[in-house]
Amino acid sequence: MAIDFELLKRTTEIPGAPGYEAKIRKFILDYIGDKVDEVKIDPMGSIIALRKGTENKKVMVAAHMDEIGFIVNHIDSDGFVRFQPLGGFDPKTLTSQRVMIHGREDVLGVMGSKPIHIMKPEERKKSPELQDYFIDTGISKEELEELIKPGDTITRVGDLIRIGQCFNGKSLDNRISVYVLMETLKNLEGESLPYDLYAVFSVQEEVGLRGARTAASRINPDFGFGLDTTIAYDLPGAQGHEMVTKLGKGTAIKIIDGTAIADYRMVEFLKEVAEKHNIKWQAEILPAGGTDTAAIQQYGRGGSITGAISIPTRYLHQTIEMVNEVDVDNSIELLTKAILQLDQFDWTHH
Ligand SMILES: [Zn+2]
Repeated sequence: MAIDFELLKRTTEIPGAPGYEAKIRKFILDYIGDKVDEVKIDPMGSIIALRKGTENKKVMVAAHMDEIGFIVNHIDSDGFVRFQPLGGFDPKTLTSQRVMIHGREDVLGVMGSKPIHIMKPEERKKSPELQDYFIDTGISKEELEELIKPGDTITRVGDLIRIGQCFNGKSLDNRISVYVLMETLKNLEGESLPYDLYAVFSVQEEVGLRGARTAASRINPDFGFGLDTTIAYDLPGAQGHEMVTKLGKGTAIKIIDGTAIADYRMVEFLKEVAEKHNIKWQAEILPAGGTDTAAIQQYGRGGSITGAISIPTRYLHQTIEMVNEVDVDNSIELLTKAILQLDQFDWTHH
């Protein structure tokens, strides 16, 4: 399936800091509305969309729609904006970034820090900390206070571009998975599903899998798939055992991450489906970090048989996250086929 670049571009560029996902939620609802049987928004704000199946079992697929961001905590006497993070930022990647403050109006700003010329030799050597940064909007304190206030969210600014066989931009974590799930729903139009499919676009993942937990407890799924990005550290200087995944080598079937051991039956099932349909895949063994997979696995009544499909991504949580179109395409294919064939596997413990 060819990648719809315009759709992907819009999906990544819409802001949505954790807890403030209204704009991206509306965009997703508009796109999926006619592709599902029912849509609900749960109290925390996650989208729960249902495609009815023929048998009385439930499968939950979750892709988080929030992105890492910040929240304004202070405007100083010179009009510089101070903030705290919403999600796990690598401070060094903030240097020279453009950001948008979502106040009464959107206000553009830049992440300012001390120029190198006036740094002491020891300052030059150490990597910057979050507190070293401030946001400069070029607007006076008086004018700025008319537009923004403490509690307003801040997101990164960046347009999605095509670069070689890849896509590059901000928030591919996790909008690439939002795109994969939206396109999977499109793929499944007109198909008869074995089990009820709950497509969840969850909130607040970047601050601790919060939305997927409540969604899983509401849905109470029998089966689950997490959909998220994973590390591709296939870069100069990296050793084989550090790479986790490689770009362009196919969709990643999660074996383990910092918060979930994928169900061994689900791992086997996904591998079988991939092999059967000639879908390129690689194994994901991630030493740290977690995704909604853990929430889906644990938060339904009594837990569920859960695994995950991950999209290999370079430069995670930086502003130039990068994915390969081959991996995106293979992820859509694998998820589509897995949903359609869930009833054709022996799920008893063996
Ligand atoms: Zn993510």
